[in-house]
Amino acid sequence: MQALCWYGKNDVRVETVADPKLLLPTDAILRVTRTAICGSDLHLLHGAVPGMAAGDILGHEFTGEVVETGPEVKKLQRGDRVVVPFAISCGQCYACRHELWALCDNSNPNAALSSRIYGDGVGALFGYSHPMGGYAGGQAQYVRVPYADVGPLKIPDGVSDEQALLLSDIFPTGYMAAENCDLHPGNTVAIWGCGPVGQFAIRSALILGAARVIAIDRIPERLRMAAAGGAEPLHPNQVDDLQEELLWRTSGRGPDACIDAVGLQPHGRRPGSSQGATVLHQAIAACRKGGTVSIPGVYEGDLNGVPFGTAFAKGLTFRMGPTHIHRYLRPLMQRIQQGEIDPAFVITHRCPLAQAPEAYRLFNHKQQDCIKVVLNPWPQQAA
Ligand code: NAD
Ligand code: ZN
Repeated sequence: MQALCWYGKNDVRVETVADPKLLLPTDAILRVTRTAICGSDLHLLHGAVPGMAAGDILGHEFTGEVVETGPEVKKLQRGDRVVVPFAISCGQCYACRHELWALCDNSNPNAALSSRIYGDGVGALFGYSHPMGGYAGGQAQYVRVPYADVGPLKIPDGVSDEQALLLSDIFPTGYMAAENCDLHPGNTVAIWGCGPVGQFAIRSALILGAARVIAIDRIPERLRMAAAGGAEPLHPNQVDDLQEELLWRTSGRGPDACIDAVGLQPHGRRPGSSQGATVLHQAIAACRKGGTVSIPGVYEGDLNGVPFGTAFAKGLTFRMGPTHIHRYLRPLMQRIQQGEIDPAFVITHRCPLAQAPEAYRLFNHKQQDCIKVVLNPWPQQAA
């Protein structure tokens, strides 16, 4: 089959590799129908995530058609159309039983390695390094899905693969980021980063009752999409001082909640910060006393330059982490079916899997107004 393989910093290639096989009785094999490139894949592209190996297949956002199931799979059948959460969860451990799906205790065979790097055994993800489980990803023609009765959700008639694809990660991620803000009527939320995650955080904050959302980014077309979604755009270079501007827009108090939808490698790195704590720094400074800082953006390792004393003195609440997609799949699928939101608004580019390396370049450099790329592994077949 064809698959997008990682070879090192800024080096991804489409290659012919062996088809995946069933390894356990609870596995399924999917023929991937659509897959997307995520901002998290850019951290891999930049070599910012430890424990990658040459030839690793990337991709954690995908839909597929079931082609084979292990003997213990009960809920899926050949031919089912499904969307798959990016996190791999066993469904039985302490974390899964407590709806902390992304923190599964059993799915990561390399938990000891992840303990050495992250300080604990983290749950496994598709296509996201060996410490994160070493599972092949879905930017490929086929993918093996472990615990097939736990993660995949059948796509109802009337919902397209593209719409469902956005439930594998970024729609729930934006939604959980907004939910983590513990919003009350009348609240104002400030969101740093208007990438795909920021876009869904904006719309989710408004769905969850925020009165106002202020969206911060430097990329004009992303700010335009944010405004179309109901946010007040804010370009940091077009104001004298971002903090002053946020105070000015919130009666001198600061936003009730701040969402960091940027994570690692922000623009405008602060001197003395190892990986760039610029956005966290600004969010902590801007947030009103007693407010919440919600962090869907991915971080790795230790962060210098985070003003923890300020956060303590202001009595801030921090919420963060990988998204518990399984929690949100059904409720957000319902919102799509009821016509409350069409998540495909975020897709700006569609291309065959064979062109994935070029698509990574476009998305990485934000060229051609690229916001979200969807790849088709079978372009020669009818959609
Ligand atoms: P993206 O790279 O497309 O978007 C990031 C945006 O942040 C860009 O538009 C960029 O211009 C903007 N930005 C950079 N520096 C900024 C700054 N200083 N101030 C304001 N804006 C700034 O990525 P994405 O797909 O939207 O993902 C965003 C983040 O969310 C990434 O860190 C990604 O890894 C993370 N993520 C986390 C989860 C999770 O489970 N928690 C899931 C998916 C993505
Ligand atoms: Zn993703």
